Amino acid sequence: MREYDLLVGGESPSAAEQTTVKDPASNQPVSHVTRADETDVAFAVESASEAFETWREVDPTTRSQYLMDIAEGLRDKQDHIAQRHTEETGRSVTDSKRSVEFAAEYFEYYAGLTHQIKGETVPLSTGEFDFTKCEPLGVTGHIIPWNSPLLLASRSIAPALACGNTVVAKPAELAPMAVMELGKVAHDAGLPDGVLNMVPGEGTIAGEALVTDKRVNELTFTGSKEVGFHIRETVSDRLIPLNLELGGKSPNIVFDDADLEAAAEGAVKLFNNAGQSCYAGTRLFVADEIYDAFIERVVDRIERMTVAKDPNETDVSALISPSAQSEVDAYVESALEAGATVTTGGCIPFEDGNFYEPTLIEDAPDDAAVSCEEIFGPVLTAYRFESEREVVERANDTEYGLYAGVWTTDLERANRIAGHIEAGTVTVNNYASPIPQAPFPAYKQSGAGSEYATAALRHYTKVKNVRMAVDKTLR
Ligand code: NDP
Repeated sequence: MREYDLLVGGESPSAAEQTTVKDPASNQPVSHVTRADETDVAFAVESASEAFETWREVDPTTRSQYLMDIAEGLRDKQDHIAQRHTEETGRSVTDSKRSVEFAAEYFEYYAGLTHQIKGETVPLSTGEFDFTKCEPLGVTGHIIPWNSPLLLASRSIAPALACGNTVVAKPAELAPMAVMELGKVAHDAGLPDGVLNMVPGEGTIAGEALVTDKRVNELTFTGSKEVGFHIRETVSDRLIPLNLELGGKSPNIVFDDADLEAAAEGAVKLFNNAGQSCYAGTRLFVADEIYDAFIERVVDRIERMTVAKDPNETDVSALISPSAQSEVDAYVESALEAGATVTTGGCIPFEDGNFYEPTLIEDAPDDAAVSCEEIFGPVLTAYRFESEREVVERANDTEYGLYAGVWTTDLERANRIAGHIEAGTVTVNNYASPIPQAPFPAYKQSGAGSEYATAALRHYTKVKNVRMAVDKTLR
C-alpha cells in the first residue's frame, strides 16, 4: 500500500489521521494519505508566507527555469504518476499519461510567460514619470477536485508560481495521489522550501482552514456550485481575488448542414472520463430534419463502446465513488418518471466497481432534472429543434454558461450562434478540450475569475501604479 504524507515547507510531516484512497474500478484500497487538520494548514500557510519573501524576489529567468524543471520532472516520472492517476480516478493509463503530458505543458506554457508579467508607462507631462508594475499577491490557496486532479492542479499552480506567488494546495480526498506526486516533482526540481505546499485532507476541515486563513491572499477552487458559493460567502469580508470554476450544462448544437460523422464523434466525447467533466457537452440539440439519422449514428457509436473493469480496455471509466454511481442512476430514474425515453444504456453493468453504462436519453422535458442539473456521469440527453432562434433560447435556458459546441458548414451561421450563446467558450465543428494558450472564461453560475492563457497572469498579480515627479532640467 502506498503512503503519502503532507508536503509543508519542504518537509513531509505525517498527521494522526489518514484517508484510504480507493480504486473506483474495484473500490479496493490503493493508498493511505495523511489528512491535514487546521494546525497543519496553518503551518503550511506560515511556510508559504515566509517563502514568499524570497520567492517574490527571484528573477523571471530563474522562475521560468524552475517551471521548466517541473515540466521535465513530470515527463520523467510520467509512467509512475499516470499509474497513480489511473488507480485513483479509474481512467485508462493512456488517458492518465495524457494528463501528465498536459500538466507538463501548463508548466512550460507559464515558464514561457514569466517575462511577460509587465506593466505600462502612462504618458504625463515631462515633469512626471508614471508606470505600473504587476506584483504577486502572496500566498495563494488552491482547492483541487478529483475529476482531473493533476491537470486542474497544474492549470492554477503553474501561473500562480510564474507570477511570484507561493502556493498551498488541498487535493481532493478521493484522488490526491497524482497531485502529491506533482509536489514531490517540484521538490526534486529544487523549488525552494515553502513555495509549494500540499495539504491533503477533508474539504470541511483542511479546505475550510485554508479558506478562512486571512494570510491567504487568493483562492482558486474547482468543484460544486454549493461549495463555490460557500467559499465566496466565507471570504466576503476580505477583498481577495477568487477563481471559481463550478461546472456546466453545456449545449452541443448540430445543424442540418453539419458534417454528421464529425458531429457524432464530437457528441460522444461526453463519455470521456465517464462524463465527469465540467465542460462536457451534455445537452445535444439536433435539427429536426436530421434528428433521426443523426441519433442513429450517435447510438451506433455508444453501443460500440466497451465498458470493462480493466481501465485499459474500457471506453467508459468507472465513476469516482459508489455515491456518484447512485446519483447518476437516480438521475436516469427521474428522467423516466418525467416521461423521457432511455434509448440506450441506463444500467449499472457490474456489481462491483462504480461503472455506469453510456446512456442516451431522448424526449426529456427541458425543465426535467436531467435537462437542467449537472449529472457528472455518462449521460447524454438529446433534443430536437427547428430554428436558430429556438435553439439559442433553449441552449441558454440554464444557470450555467461554461462551454458550447456548434456544428455547421455555414460559417455565418456559426458566427451568429457563437454571438448569441451565453457561454465562456464556443467551439465550432470540433468539441475541443481547453488548452493553456486560450482563456477559459465562465458565464453565469459556471464561475468567476480568469484561468488559462495570459488572463491567469492578470488574476495572480495586482497592479501597482508608481507616479514620480522628475526633474527634466539638464545640468
Ligand atoms: P466538492 O465541491 O465538494 O469538492 C471539490 C473540492 O472542494 C474537494 O477538494 C473538496 O474536498 C473541497 N471542499 C469541499 N467542501 C469544502 C469546504 N467547505 N471548504 C473548502 N473546500 C471544500 O465536489 P464533490 O467532490 O462533492 O462533487 C460534487 C459535484 O460537484 C459533482 O457531481 C459535480 O457536479 C461538481 N464538480 C464539478 C467539478 C468541476 O470540474 N467543475 C469538479 C468536481 C465536482 P474533499 O476532498 O473533502 O471532497
